[in-house]
Amino acid sequence: MNGKLADCHVAIIGAGPYGLSAAAYLRAAGEEIRVFGVPMAFWQNQMPAGMCLRSNWGASHIADPKRELTLDEYCLKNGNHVSKPIPVERFVDYGLWYQRRAVPDIDERPVRSVEIHARGFKVFLGDGEAFTSRRVVVAGGISAFATRPAQFMGIPSALASHTSEQNDLRKFNGQQVVVIGAGQSALESAALFKEAGIPVEVIARTRALNWVGLHSRLHNLGMISMMLYSTRDVGPVGISRLVAMPRLFRRFPRCFQDRTAYRAIRPAGAGWLQSRITGVPITLGRRVVSAAVVGSQLRLRLDDRTERLVDHALLATGFRVDVSRYPFLSQSLLRQLETADGFPVLNRGLESSIPGLHFLGKPAAWSFGPLLGFVSGAEFASNALIRSITRKNGSN
Ligand SMILES: Cc1cc2nc3c(=O)[nH]c(=O)nc-3n(C[C@H](O)[C@H](O)[C@H](O)COP(=O)(O)OP(=O)(O)OC[C@H]3O[C@@H](n4cnc5c(N)ncnc54)[C@H](O)[C@@H]3O)c2cc1C
Repeated sequence: MNGKLADCHVAIIGAGPYGLSAAAYLRAAGEEIRVFGVPMAFWQNQMPAGMCLRSNWGASHIADPKRELTLDEYCLKNGNHVSKPIPVERFVDYGLWYQRRAVPDIDERPVRSVEIHARGFKVFLGDGEAFTSRRVVVAGGISAFATRPAQFMGIPSALASHTSEQNDLRKFNGQQVVVIGAGQSALESAALFKEAGIPVEVIARTRALNWVGLHSRLHNLGMISMMLYSTRDVGPVGISRLVAMPRLFRRFPRCFQDRTAYRAIRPAGAGWLQSRITGVPITLGRRVVSAAVVGSQLRLRLDDRTERLVDHALLATGFRVDVSRYPFLSQSLLRQLETADGFPVLNRGLESSIPGLHFLGKPAAWSFGPLLGFVSGAEFASNALIRSITRKNGSN
């Protein structure tokens, strides 16, 4: 690969917390970068209005190398007060404020395709422009990985939609809705429906709801709390400290990593949602075995042989990483990419089996643990990325 001949040194695909943070670090390190994507688009368009972040204040800063672009600085500079938990609208505004300061020259055009090229990669944009880049950093988020259960495959999205397809739940006013799932997204959607006066039932396979953040006393014990919980705010007591050290975490046997990761991020709601869903009917330990369109409605059959006739099913059924679903990765590139269970296998610099191709965010979670699925993992990811890129530049 002859990097000197490439049009660009590093192309970053994605302008969410990971792409923005990586851009800020690389630019501060003097790298020539181009950044693509609509800033904070996922948070703005694919989460419900009125939602609040589950991660706490300390875990919701988008990392920057000088620590000048924290949530606290955002509040200070704008004379703003941001309530806790953090409303998604304020977090989007914070992300856009971060972007204007760190990456004002962002290119909002979508990347249509990335191919392997003699000079590194050839990147094609949505409007047909193409250029070569020595490196590509994929920070494309999880939107492409939305999971729709098989029972709902043939159902039109007007009757059954994934949570990431909705950003204003008030549009279901006057309808009867079910929410499928028992994670934060499911429970928060149920709360928003209830508060909008929209009749809703939650149906989930789990036999009991899990909650996080119920042990507030354990978080207020000074040094002891610091030993029990990491400020990264991913996982319960103890596990929180372990997953906050991705380099150590990745050295454990795979089965331990998988078990611990599941425990850290199993479906659960934030404790502050409990009172908001009081009175919402919740059917646990049941699965939907079939869904059928009946006139303008949807009939759901559950495994206890009961039925529900509803106007809409909101599928809070999560995201399953499978990088072959990123529409911009070419087939020839995917054939050369080593993956495990849909995740790219990454080295210490978050670089894949294809030299110069890096992945940030949730796709990096197989190699570095669950922290990488959260905003608070961006500091680790950006530091690992610049160390890898600047070291390799030096040795070239
Ligand atoms: C309902 C919900 C609530 C959540 N709450 C929290 C929370 O409280 N705290 C937390 O830490 N995490 C939370 N998460 C997880 C959250 O998704 C990640 O933390 C965060 O989005 C990771 O940032 P990212 O930059 O990897 O991805 P994203 O924020 O999704 O950014 C991806 C970017 O890539 C761009 N992009 C994609 N494809 C292309 C393309 N072809 N060309 C150009 N650009 C492209 C998109 O436009 C977008 O800007 C939540 C997730 C969901 C679904």
